[in-house]
Amino acid sequence: MSPSKPIRFGPPPHAQEGDWFRTHDALYAADVHRFRGQGISGTSHEGVDSIVASGGYAGDEDLGDVIIYTAQGGAPDERGYITADQELTGVNEGMLINYREGLPIRYVRGLGIKRGKATKGYRYRGLYLVEDYWSVRTERGYITWQFRLAKSLAGERWDSGKSGDVDEGNAVTSLEKVVAKYVSIQRRVRNSAEARAIKDLYENICQMCNIPLVVDANGARYSEGAHIHALGRPHDGLDVRRNILCLCPNCHVLFDSGARLITDDFKVIDALTSKVVGDLNVLPEHQIDPASLQQHRGRWADRSQGL
Ligand SMILES: [Zn+2]
Repeated sequence: MSPSKPIRFGPPPHAQEGDWFRTHDALYAADVHRFRGQGISGTSHEGVDSIVASGGYAGDEDLGDVIIYTAQGGAPDERGYITADQELTGVNEGMLINYREGLPIRYVRGLGIKRGKATKGYRYRGLYLVEDYWSVRTERGYITWQFRLAKSLAGERWDSGKSGDVDEGNAVTSLEKVVAKYVSIQRRVRNSAEARAIKDLYENICQMCNIPLVVDANGARYSEGAHIHALGRPHDGLDVRRNILCLCPNCHVLFDSGARLITDDFKVIDALTSKVVGDLNVLPEHQIDPASLQQHRGRWADRSQGL
């Protein structure tokens, strides 16, 4: 394999969103994709800087601004069905760094896919962020990991990583702006009228750890509305009270990343040790939908068996 160029996040210096490339070599020459002949560019410890999707896996979805992307590995057959468990190692592990740190991925789509090969060139689709990830069990019983990529709202205005001709300070500022904008949209969803009603009901006290987070001298408390069955493709959960918990930010992150699962009888499980760590505080007025809890557990198929 030809040597790869060093990892570099952000827009390509010599290409624009929507540009068409005839070959993988052309993507490489334009610094859109640092690897020749490999669909994903990145490492387990730096993250992923670009993806060239060429059909790949069953379960992938391309919805334009949202892409459901299946992890690498699992020995897919010719129709894209995996024949072994996938693992969060290598570039798959790298995707988690993108998720945690908000690093953008240059996304390229192969056109005219036939048997996993692009026959009509490639389209550079712009920068995407890893918004969510989960594991599910396929119909054949194998664990697969999937990621939801969402179009970066700042698009091509992202200018990080161009060493030499871009001021380092500006690069950080523009990255922070994108993350701030993204976070503010997430926050709006979490503060819908439905979410506020649940937070009010619990007086902003976390249902998992019961710790009130006091944030000012007047005694105001902070909490977050956590959707149990996640919103958006491919989960399509609802923004309704029976699907929302009042959680502190710590517990919210643990819950969203599947480190905490909740059983139908409201036991809180540390999913990484499979131990019960407490009871979810549920008031009689709050009818939690057991189907939502099941869907959340199902999103972490690698660790929810038997719950
Ligand atoms: Zn908590």
